[in-house]
Amino acid sequence: MGTSWTGSGRKGSPARRLTVKEISMGERFNTIQRLIDRHGRVHTNLRLSVTDRCNIRCWYCMPHENVVFKPREEILTFEEIARFCQVMATLGVNKLRLTGGEPLVRSKLPNLIAALASISGIDDLALTTNGILLADQAQALRRAGLTRLNISLDTLSPETFHRLARREGLDQVLRGIDVACAVGFDKIRLNALSLRGVTEPEVVRLVTFARERNLEMRFIEFMPLDAENHWKVEQVLTGQEVLTLAQEAFGPLTPIERDDPSQPATDYAFADGRGRLGLINPVTQPFCHACNRLRLTADGKVRNCLFSSDDWNVQPLLRGNADDEQIAQLVRDCIAAKRPGHGMDEPQFLRPRDAMYQIGG
Ligand code: SAM
Ligand code: SF4
Repeated sequence: MGTSWTGSGRKGSPARRLTVKEISMGERFNTIQRLIDRHGRVHTNLRLSVTDRCNIRCWYCMPHENVVFKPREEILTFEEIARFCQVMATLGVNKLRLTGGEPLVRSKLPNLIAALASISGIDDLALTTNGILLADQAQALRRAGLTRLNISLDTLSPETFHRLARREGLDQVLRGIDVACAVGFDKIRLNALSLRGVTEPEVVRLVTFARERNLEMRFIEFMPLDAENHWKVEQVLTGQEVLTLAQEAFGPLTPIERDDPSQPATDYAFADGRGRLGLINPVTQPFCHACNRLRLTADGKVRNCLFSSDDWNVQPLLRGNADDEQIAQLVRDCIAAKRPGHGMDEPQFLRPRDAMYQIGG
């Protein structure tokens, strides 16, 4: 790394001593063996699934009935997850996102958040939730150290919610959003899946709802990760179509330059500055070239891509006597095998055997 940590100032300005914090950051960067794959992508972002269980049954994610969940004894304990994250932090991972399944069905989740928040090197701790249990838990999550929250909200219509989620719950989600806003996270974002024939009438309503709360509304193209094999490319309402619908209602939107190039969304600003529109277009505009993510499933499989058919099982290492270097090597092997892209548009593309709730979205 070209950075000098000697503390010399700008040309012509007097040399300045580094602070203790700067020295320890420098030491950290100098000693880290970062997770760089064969395509030069530096992996700093880890998604942790804490459960494959869920309190609803979204059409685009889970089976309707007879879901076979992983046996409880296979699910990593909080201590095992925290140990894994500690090792990951020494390899340069600085962002964690908890997901599932529905992460808020996992009991005592704030205990895990507090453990993760205390890991040196982790500076961003986020969670994605369907919001149903959020009203009761938002305060405890914030107190434990959670900084950012994504709340899934596909619709404001109770009928459409029921059709998609195959359970009741919209009122609870809306209450969860209000409580989360009142608690005051660093950032709250609303996420809607973008599905042809369902999402078109929701776009303006959802964007209006988000703007009233000064939140970002993100639309994510439907991906072939549903458990019941419904996905067809024609069912994807594209990000471009969502943008057109939004511009028809709100006037021209201005793209916002990404401050983080690995950020998958293109964000747009409204003329009055209230709220934001975000578009994640994995189907029509894959962002694999900038992907810096790796994933840990609830039962301890490390994955380098949502669409990978391979995984690297770290559970035996976490439950055996493996040292940190053995865990790090397993992750390096996983990263080394990462393909350049998801290959969804290639004729030989095969859907992964696991659905979104089993991997962790
Ligand atoms: N249960 C939580 C929730 O719904 O927010 C967290 C897990 S969920 C798997 C994470 C995200 O994945 C949600 O925003 C959901 O809309 C998205 N998702 C699920 N299935 C999807 C699919 N087939 N294509 C695109 N996004 C999907
Ligand atoms: Fe549950 Fe989230 Fe999947 Fe919906 S998208 S079934 S809320 S895990």
